Amino acid sequence: MKIAVIGQSLFGQEVYKELRMDGHIIVGVFTIPDKEGKADPLAKEAEKNGVPVFKFPRWRVKGQAIPEVVDLYKSIGAELNVLPYCSQFIPMEVIDNPKYGSIIYHPSLLPRHRGASAINWTLINGDKKGGFTVFWADDGLDTGPILLQKECVIQPNDTVNTLYNRFLFPMGVKGMVEAVRLIAKGEALRIQQPQEGATYEGIQKKDNAKINWNQSAETLHNWIRGHDKVPGAWADINGQKITFYASTLLDNGSSPRGQLLEIPGSCRPGIVTKEGLVLFGNDGKALLVRSLQFEDGKMIPAGQYFCLGSNAAVELTEDEKKFAEEIRAVWKSILTNVSQIEDLTDFFKSGAASMDVVRLVEEVKLRTSSFQLQNEDIYMNTTFQNFIQMCVRKLRGENDDQDLIVDYVEKDINNMIVKIPHQLFINGEFIDAEGGKTYTSMNPTDGTALCDVSLAQKSDVDKAVAAAKEAFEDGEWGKMNPRDRGRLIYKLADLMEEHQEELATIETIDSGAVYTLALKTHVGMSIQTFRYFAGWCDKIQGSTIPINQARPNRNLTFTKKEPIGVCAIIIPWNYPLMMLAWKTAACLAAGNTVVLKPAQVTPLTALKFAELSARAGIPKGVVNILPGSGAVVGQHLSDHPDVRKLGFTGSTEIGKHIMKSCAVSNVKKVSLELGGKSPLIIFSDCDIDKAVRMGISSVFFNKGENCIAAGRIFVEDSIHDQFVKRVVEEVEKMKIGDPLDRSTDHGPQNHKTHLEKLLEYCQIANMEGATLVYGGKQVQRPGFFFEPTVFTDVQDHMYIAKEESFGPIMIISKFRRMWMMS
Ligand code: NAD
Repeated sequence: MKIAVIGQSLFGQEVYKELRMDGHIIVGVFTIPDKEGKADPLAKEAEKNGVPVFKFPRWRVKGQAIPEVVDLYKSIGAELNVLPYCSQFIPMEVIDNPKYGSIIYHPSLLPRHRGASAINWTLINGDKKGGFTVFWADDGLDTGPILLQKECVIQPNDTVNTLYNRFLFPMGVKGMVEAVRLIAKGEALRIQQPQEGATYEGIQKKDNAKINWNQSAETLHNWIRGHDKVPGAWADINGQKITFYASTLLDNGSSPRGQLLEIPGSCRPGIVTKEGLVLFGNDGKALLVRSLQFEDGKMIPAGQYFCLGSNAAVELTEDEKKFAEEIRAVWKSILTNVSQIEDLTDFFKSGAASMDVVRLVEEVKLRTSSFQLQNEDIYMNTTFQNFIQMCVRKLRGENDDQDLIVDYVEKDINNMIVKIPHQLFINGEFIDAEGGKTYTSMNPTDGTALCDVSLAQKSDVDKAVAAAKEAFEDGEWGKMNPRDRGRLIYKLADLMEEHQEELATIETIDSGAVYTLALKTHVGMSIQTFRYFAGWCDKIQGSTIPINQARPNRNLTFTKKEPIGVCAIIIPWNYPLMMLAWKTAACLAAGNTVVLKPAQVTPLTALKFAELSARAGIPKGVVNILPGSGAVVGQHLSDHPDVRKLGFTGSTEIGKHIMKSCAVSNVKKVSLELGGKSPLIIFSDCDIDKAVRMGISSVFFNKGENCIAAGRIFVEDSIHDQFVKRVVEEVEKMKIGDPLDRSTDHGPQNHKTHLEKLLEYCQIANMEGATLVYGGKQVQRPGFFFEPTVFTDVQDHMYIAKEESFGPIMIISKFRRMWMMS
């Protein structure tokens, strides 16, 4: 068949090529004039093949066909006009001229969406089905008889682009070719278009693509995707015309975490999250937009809205702008391979290495003496824009701490004001638990309420793990030079030292630890632990391992030590801060991120630690603290698929349970530090003074709440009575009382249930026939005080010989030496 192709674009080109491949003769191609000297793809292809190409700017003037144009058209002698995407108005003289008439491609299921922008309207209307029609041309109103139609299901997040590329283009080309084939075979249909369901819509332009926010989320979503990518739906936000792309409907109703963005005309502000901008319809449902475009054409991931010259960023003064330009030149001189330093240029992605970090710090130092830059400041502000914002904030003397909002419980105690955070610490912020759930933390010294603490729920665990995962995978922590990570941990240790009296006071009122011991051990050793591990950061190395040279030989075996990811830490109540330090410090030094659950009864030093970690500049999400119950928070951490390792310190019973959960969930790595019942054996030839001293400290240290306590003491029979007498004399001298009093030896037990357990423990011992030598009772004063206690005549089969008391109870057994060393 002799065919005239009247159309344009890649679609026209493909139809043209396919028709030629199908054996038809293209006698002429009619397309649009060249734009900026560039021919349309259809024209280009036809010119290549030597097919006559006509580029009329128009076919009609004032509604009348231009005679010369019509004559030129007639001269090619086409038997059929094929119109793939024809944007011009073709006169009826031309349409009706060929023997077989004219067929047109239209990207909707006619009679729906007659007129322009049919794909846009299909999506804007939320049609569930779309497709295209090949119809016999009419006078331009898309009402001609239908030759064939093909339909497809519209996906919920289809955009104009995806629908076109997935179906309307490839299947449309095939449809046109099939239509021509049918005509050639004399089998083409002519089905009159029904009137029912007919719509006619106008062309969608940028001007009428403004978003009306007072609609349901689904309508908003359809509007945005129905304009995506052309012409783009937009709104005025913060005085800027912002165009929205890549919308998806969100199905859950929960409010995501992020920074609020006022959307004029919307019933709720939007939320800028890592994934994008969450917007709300007037039905309360939400959609997520992933890309935004500014008027100057710059496109950004919507999640970065606030990083980019929005109202959250500081407006620079003239002097600061000058400073910024100087620094831009410094960046340029360092990043030699980058042609231009844009606001979004990323220091490290542009090839900077740790040497360049030092250079940048020094270059900035040369230009200003008013603030000190640390290497980590660069790791935390890697784009030029963020870097300048950080420098300007420092220039103005703004304190980073201002970002951290802490709702303190303040106590005037121990000659100081202690400021205690009491909310969950997730992603660098103190926040309430889901549903505002709280519980009361008690002061064991007088049994009074200390403060209400947020009680983490399962969803809070999910949030914290997600924050830790993000901080590990995308945050600066991982990118940071290990030495700089070490510096941050040192800084944290310094801050803990600065706050050591406050930390020790909080530890005392929360756990009952004697203040001087808390200062030296609970807090002092925690600081030392962080210092020690800070030094390890840049000394973590693997090794090459000799192996046998089996075939294939020249094998190389080596270990490379890498951080594992999100680590969960679950700790007990006896040394709340120290247990945290032992596990957290090592974890952080290796580059992991942490979600820690303190014991429910002693959460306060962990929360103070969280505050100090933020002040030290540990990036958000790296440390997360969740006060809560073992059964909910601890269990969910053990089960969580995104937790890669769990470190647990606590009882053997719970340890077994946790190990099982870790295995069943995702075979996460687990390390357990559990209960004990270590013996201390005292022979008759010992230094008795020393033996008494050691015996007492190994049982009564930290009121017996000690995992390495001497759980049993075996004393050789010949010195047994003397030992017991001496111990009792010493115990009698112990000063029991207020742990904040510097002369107190023995403070209250950690919490009420523990005290009750100790009383029960002694009852069992009495029943089983152990001899109570001293104590065994609650001290008659407010609070949870238990007398230091001594039992003797303990036999191996007895309960107290086997079970850990975890309290101030000395359990003595007499032994006789049965053999002598030769
Ligand atoms: P515990 O086992 O009852 O509690 C420890 C932690 O585990 C708490 O945070 C608790 O909330 C949590 N937990 C409870 N049930 C859980 C579950 N199903 N899933 C996950 N987490 C859960 O122990 P405790 O009474 O707090 O502490 C005393 C025990 O800790 C003693 O046995 C003591 O010897 C031991 N301990 C050992 C060491 C050590 O280094 N080996 C140090 C201190 C204490």
